[in-house]
Amino acid sequence: MSGSCSMTSLDGRRLAAVPSSNAVKIANTSRLLSGPEATVERDEARGKDLGSSGQYPVPGLDGVDVADELAALRRHARRVPSFQYPKRSSTVRLLVTGYRLLVTLSPTMITVSLPDGTPLELEDGATGLDAARAIGARLADAAVAVVVDGNERDLTRELPDGATLSVITKDSEPGRHVLRHSAAHMMAQAVLDIFDGATFAIGPAIEDGFYYDFDIGRAFTPEDVERVEARMAEIVAEDQPFERAEISKSEALELFADHPYKREIIEAVEESEGAAGDAVSLYKNLEFVDLCRGPHLPSTGRLPAFKLLRTAGAYWRGDENRPQLQRIYGTAWESRKAQSEYLDRLEEARKRDHRKLGAELDLFSFPSELGSGLAVWHPKGALVRTIMEDYSRRTHLAHGYEIVATPHIARSHLWETSGHLEFYAEGMYPPMELDGGDEYLLKPMNCPFHILIYQSRSRSYRELPLRFFELGTVYRYERSGVVHGLLRARGFTMDDAHIFCLESDLADELKSLLEFVLMVWRDFGFDNVEADLSTKPEKYVGQDDLWEKATDALRDAIEAASIPYEVAEGEGAFYGPKIDIHVRDAIGRRWQVGTLQVDFAQPENFSLEYTSSENSRERPVMIHRALMGSIERFFAILLEHYGGALPGWLSPVQATIVPVADRHVDYANEVAAGLRGADLRVEVDDHDDTVGEKIRKAITMKHPAVLVVGDDDIDANTAGFRLRGAEERRGMDLAEIVDELAEFCKAPR
Ligand SMILES: [Zn+2]
Ligand SMILES: [Zn+2]
Repeated sequence: MSGSCSMTSLDGRRLAAVPSSNAVKIANTSRLLSGPEATVERDEARGKDLGSSGQYPVPGLDGVDVADELAALRRHARRVPSFQYPKRSSTVRLLVTGYRLLVTLSPTMITVSLPDGTPLELEDGATGLDAARAIGARLADAAVAVVVDGNERDLTRELPDGATLSVITKDSEPGRHVLRHSAAHMMAQAVLDIFDGATFAIGPAIEDGFYYDFDIGRAFTPEDVERVEARMAEIVAEDQPFERAEISKSEALELFADHPYKREIIEAVEESEGAAGDAVSLYKNLEFVDLCRGPHLPSTGRLPAFKLLRTAGAYWRGDENRPQLQRIYGTAWESRKAQSEYLDRLEEARKRDHRKLGAELDLFSFPSELGSGLAVWHPKGALVRTIMEDYSRRTHLAHGYEIVATPHIARSHLWETSGHLEFYAEGMYPPMELDGGDEYLLKPMNCPFHILIYQSRSRSYRELPLRFFELGTVYRYERSGVVHGLLRARGFTMDDAHIFCLESDLADELKSLLEFVLMVWRDFGFDNVEADLSTKPEKYVGQDDLWEKATDALRDAIEAASIPYEVAEGEGAFYGPKIDIHVRDAIGRRWQVGTLQVDFAQPENFSLEYTSSENSRERPVMIHRALMGSIERFFAILLEHYGGALPGWLSPVQATIVPVADRHVDYANEVAAGLRGADLRVEVDDHDDTVGEKIRKAITMKHPAVLVVGDDDIDANTAGFRLRGAEERRGMDLAEIVDELAEFCKAPR
């Protein structure tokens, strides 16, 4: 069959086999200059849809009959009603059989190699699905796509001779991505089927699901979403094949004449750097066609489970000045069981939402008078926060850091030198004009201030490494669409440090830093730590050998700390490689918390120097790092991780004392004084409620201990003691209670 790849295979499943793509990157400048925190949303942004990630293959046309294909696609794009789907005639079926017979009678063979190096011989023209079948029926059933020479491909595409091949199964993350991405197409198909004049924008797969942005001239109602879900179920039942095609950009613009957002995406491809060729790839299933780089399921019937979850308004390109679109979020899984487990986790997450807990436990609020993304901390929340900050200062002092303090605003000149105005202006609040025309800006990062402290006098190699630590409050302009409680706020306090060290000390410094990081997270109850190592991007500053050394040092540090990690090739900031650290919470969610970034740029920008042992002037290396990230974000993660029931040492109230009757209030106060003497935080509940109500309230407020005192306790110097996770013990000796509770509430260090 080689040389005849323009032929659509007679079962209608396959278009031309296309050479592996030359992916074209659309510049993504948002991450160019990112301090810690700037990448917190990365996990969600791993969408592969060309609209969201800006990545997209531009293969040659390779013999596709463009005119024919375009005409067919145009017909499809105009949406034929579903009852007109063409049925394959028995004559065609006969032809298929005959054709297949012919091919079988004169096979030429190709060889592909499997991940373990085993060669697999297949007939020329064999697809990924054929290869999976040759390995085993179960694998073929679980397969959703293949990786051919490092590129993800549809199962239905022909395999080239000599390729290396691995099969992506539906129960893997890449496999789920394919499921979800295919589901996004089907959702758009359903919306375009149902709503006259509907248009669609982008629809990527995201962590745990997918979304698509539409314009139907109004918001979706819950009934609308039900209809879309029902139509999707029909599309699954119809088992429509996903077919791939490539057409030129001008043809694509014509094809999507009625869809302005798609046209904008197509036009953006032309503006991208290094666009090779003049083709865009499309996927169609029957009447529906979408821009896409794939891969997709072979057909809609292979989507095992999906559910639509919620709707939200979303600005086109995330820009408040652009039209507002309507987004539908959904999820899709490899089985109904996996999906229902996920929905349970989602329900659990809803219960743990820190914004909900923050209100219920009276910890913080976001008054609209302040503006979006700015919190006020109520007494109990501020107390927890203070405990976290005290812990942070204490441990930093114990680990060779010096505490510094810096203001919240600085002249624009400083931000010019640091490069923030050039690369990070969008993340900053607009300038204030003072002092005869001088402009001042709120700080989005603490780094330049710490650099100024370094520069306040000449430095010798003897005093390096210098480690400056600050609980530094910064302000970043986040679009209102991405502001999310304390997790993504517009003002927050980083546990920020900048380390200035000799090049030769970098490796040791990173190693001890990572140990410090792990210690902090363990102290807060996170044992499950993972890392992403981001390496040199295309655009970078600094010398290659230094990059290599720093990247190796980061890798060694991760390995020495036995942290599981993934390498994000080319994802480093332009100024240096970095490690992002993630923790898994109690319900398995992955949170980015800290980051360690090596920086070759700022020491240059500010001409930092130290005097070496040979009396020469040398440039130090700088490390930016935040362990918790920000107090706000970490606080939110802690609340959600513990479902509000913070560990004893962090609980704002560690024990509630409940007098059975009014005559026991004096004794209750005595007991409280005793506990306070042991540095425990205690409340006496002398309200008019019943004992049962008071106990329930203390438990609802997640206080670790409840002491109930009645007649018998006064003479015996005892109390009924109920500690979180244990049975109530009546008539327990007060001294014992103090010991046990103090142990339960002991700070880790
Ligand atoms: Zn797609
Ligand atoms: Zn910094």
